[in-house]
Amino acid sequence: MSFLLPIFDTIYIDQSACNSEVSQRVQSLYPADIIHFIDSENSLDKNNSKKNVQMSAEEFNASKKTLLLTTFKGQFFKRCPGATQKKSLTCCNYFVLNLGSQCNMNCSYCYLQSYLNSKITKIYVNIEDALNELKAIADKHPDQPFRVGTGEIIDSLSLDILTLYSRRLIKFFKQYPRWILEFKTKSDCVEQFIDIPGAANIVVSWSINPPFVINSEEHGTARFEERLSAAKKCRDAGYRVAFHIDPMIYHENWKENYSYLAEELAKNFSARDIQVISIGSLRFQPEQRHLMRERFGFDSLVNQAEMFPSEGGKLRYDAGLRSEMFSFMYKKLKSLNSDLNIFLCMETPETWIKALEKMPMQVPELKEMFKPLPDVRS
Ligand code: SF4
Repeated sequence: MSFLLPIFDTIYIDQSACNSEVSQRVQSLYPADIIHFIDSENSLDKNNSKKNVQMSAEEFNASKKTLLLTTFKGQFFKRCPGATQKKSLTCCNYFVLNLGSQCNMNCSYCYLQSYLNSKITKIYVNIEDALNELKAIADKHPDQPFRVGTGEIIDSLSLDILTLYSRRLIKFFKQYPRWILEFKTKSDCVEQFIDIPGAANIVVSWSINPPFVINSEEHGTARFEERLSAAKKCRDAGYRVAFHIDPMIYHENWKENYSYLAEELAKNFSARDIQVISIGSLRFQPEQRHLMRERFGFDSLVNQAEMFPSEGGKLRYDAGLRSEMFSFMYKKLKSLNSDLNIFLCMETPETWIKALEKMPMQVPELKEMFKPLPDVRS
């Protein structure tokens, strides 16, 4: 198996992580002179993760190049942040399993710019604890269709070559066929698990945009063709794939470019291959705007956008433009393949009605995904 090693300038390994498999693997892959053993995260800069203090552009950039291997003492398995705004946003019952934080890629719109306050990338080496936590809940509710994603605050696969967590997770979820595991990525790192036969409840998904938007805004990610090629490998190995056309970004030729994206998906995948396609639009917290400007300049499409305050305190395109973009994409995809399951991500009921003319519970193939589940975590 050949792969490109993620680039880090400095790697810290704390005492609690020293003997882990991940630590051994990292030590075998990186030069010894960039690896430092520390007592705990507290021995790093005291200001490393001050609550409510946003990082500067320089600190945020540096946080992508510094890695800490540590153990996580909190709760791994949580509801998706969209669920906490249930009243204003339509919730698709998503759960997240956080096995680290920060990302080694660099999208201009990335919400981590306002979400994270730690100046390092972290990988939690204690996956056993995460799996034990999951097992306790899965054993209680094996027949509930929980959807669990590992790509909320760290990409699911771009650092997987260091952890090989995909292999552990696939094995675990195969024991609970009603539960769905989703690896969400903008990388093409799939070789490390592709020898394991897929299963209907293991989904590998790509956040995807037209090549023009990827090239302009999604720095350090796999290019459009690379993502499609990785998705085809997964499909051929028996995995289901999914695509998140999110965030749709408005630009001069958006209709042509998003049509091309829809056509490429329809050309390469059947509705049976694709578990779901979600569509979302550009959104971010107002406080990250200055960081985006400083880090990506005014040529960036996201910095040229006219944005308005909306639900959850985020800035979004105005409701009219959002509905126009969603409706266009939905109709285009359905015209190419009427069997595709398509839903809107983190959107208001009003936008669902305006863009799709129905709520998810009125769409037979989306009903299961949106029906309320027992509140095991809030
Ligand atoms: S791939 Fe996702 S997490 Fe990584 S920089 Fe892009 S938006 Fe952020």
